[in-house]
Amino acid sequence: MSQAARPARITLRRPATWLPAIRAQWITSLRFRTTFITVAATALAIAVTCVFTALAIHNNLFSTSRDEVLGQAQRAVIAAQDVIDTAEVATDGAALQQVLFDARRELTTQAATSYYAYFRVDDEASAIAPPDFSFLLEEGDDAILSEGLRERVRSSDDGSQWWQSVGLQIDDSGDAVPGIVVGQQLEVQNAGAYEVYLAYSLEEADRTLRFVQGILWVTGIVLVVLVAAISWFVLRTVAQPILEASRTSERFAAGDFEVRLPVRGKDELAALGRSFNAMADSIEAQITELAELSQVQQRFVSDVSHELRTPLTTIRLASEMLNDRRSEFDESTARAAELLHTQVARFEQLLTDLLEISRYDAGSVQLELEPTNLAQLAEDVADSMRDVAGRHGSELRVVAPGGYSPVDVDPRRVRRVLRNLIGNAIEHGEGRPIVITIDSDAHAVAVGVRDYGLGMSPEQAARVFDRFWRADPSRKRTLGGTGLGLAIALGDAKLHGGALELWSEPGRGSHFVLTVPRVPGQSVTRSPIPVEPNGGAVEELGVTEPIRTGEDLA
Ligand code: ADP
Repeated sequence: MSQAARPARITLRRPATWLPAIRAQWITSLRFRTTFITVAATALAIAVTCVFTALAIHNNLFSTSRDEVLGQAQRAVIAAQDVIDTAEVATDGAALQQVLFDARRELTTQAATSYYAYFRVDDEASAIAPPDFSFLLEEGDDAILSEGLRERVRSSDDGSQWWQSVGLQIDDSGDAVPGIVVGQQLEVQNAGAYEVYLAYSLEEADRTLRFVQGILWVTGIVLVVLVAAISWFVLRTVAQPILEASRTSERFAAGDFEVRLPVRGKDELAALGRSFNAMADSIEAQITELAELSQVQQRFVSDVSHELRTPLTTIRLASEMLNDRRSEFDESTARAAELLHTQVARFEQLLTDLLEISRYDAGSVQLELEPTNLAQLAEDVADSMRDVAGRHGSELRVVAPGGYSPVDVDPRRVRRVLRNLIGNAIEHGEGRPIVITIDSDAHAVAVGVRDYGLGMSPEQAARVFDRFWRADPSRKRTLGGTGLGLAIALGDAKLHGGALELWSEPGRGSHFVLTVPRVPGQSVTRSPIPVEPNGGAVEELGVTEPIRTGEDLA
């Protein structure tokens, strides 16, 4: 199972890191994503509800206050009109003034507001009509008594009311409070109609509205925070077991077959845990069974190889004796004796290889480390194989820029690997030169064997280390390989903590590179000899041109 990507770091003082960090969280954390969506959806729903509720309350509060104000104004104007209508008909200015004064007193008492004004409707001058009067409402004050309102009041002599929302200046602070101004006509005997205006402050209603709105928003925000916290914690309880399952699967995949998920309760997560554990039990049982089976097979191969050794030694001795005396036999018997001798030798080699492989499988191979000069060792192997190579028309060239200082390796095994690699190069090298390179760096020493022969396709190269695999089984073998050589060579390389790499291309040849660490037990990350010939010193080096050999360098 792949490890979840590590979320980007947020640095609060650097806003540029916020967006990438949030994006990374969005991609990697189910908990973050779900909480984000839940909070966004809840916030939207709460915002819509708050706005809607605030508007409804505002409308309701306003219309209630307005109706109250209109009723009060109506009653006040009617009361004032009553005072005028029931007074004795006055014909001189002073008497009329008194009637209107009485009416004004009644008006202000009933209206319960200190903002009022009245203006005579008729523009013609009258000797007896009382003058216009206003208290806190200035005539022509556009903000409060608009021309539109006055126009309507002037033209409505049927007693209808007109109103308008205004901003009222109630103190010297300069701030206006919401208010409403109501206008209506009042009929004064012998003086004609008067426009009467009464203004009311709606500050109380406004304050109530603000308070309710404040409560609504605070409640909304608290709700969003609560929803975020609840969904974060609920998701934690769900995500935690999932994370635990993922970690357990990773440990299981890494080979710890004994790990199990804790099962609590009977819910879906417990069902997940139970199925995981059942699967783990079954896999563990099968792996144990396979391991046991494989052990039985290894033991069988090892036992058979052992058991065959003794009779084979006798057969070899007999075949050697027959082979030595073949000149005494007739031609066909002599040929049979020779064939018997070579095939028995191959059989013996095969048994040796099989025993070696079964030792690897059983993990019972021990390295016998010795400080070894690998350049020297490679040259020795090359020298011992020069004759064979010569018989195949190939020249062995050794290039050793490094690898002289001793490294702790098992020389017997390294020699065997090199013999196998050089043997294969001779076998498949098509009679062209073979270049053996030895080089080293601070961490590792490597030996490369490059041939310019048949080469292999990528599919063949991928199988080259498989046991008993051969690219072309029908090809005649001259050096008597068993098909286990590279499998053993890879085992040897790994046992040293090293690597055996391969580059090969049909028609261009192959390059095998054995790399071993300078310090036993350290793993090798890169080789001093690049396996791709393009980057290496051996590239097409010596096919036509003279090259520096180990002897030249010395
Ligand atoms: P063997 O050589 O005994 O067959 P190996 O394990 O050494 O067994 O090699 C397996 C096969 O890999 C060989 O049969 C051959 O087909 C292929 N092979 C190995 N080395 C080379 C090479 N240098 N060039 C081409 N093919 C090779």
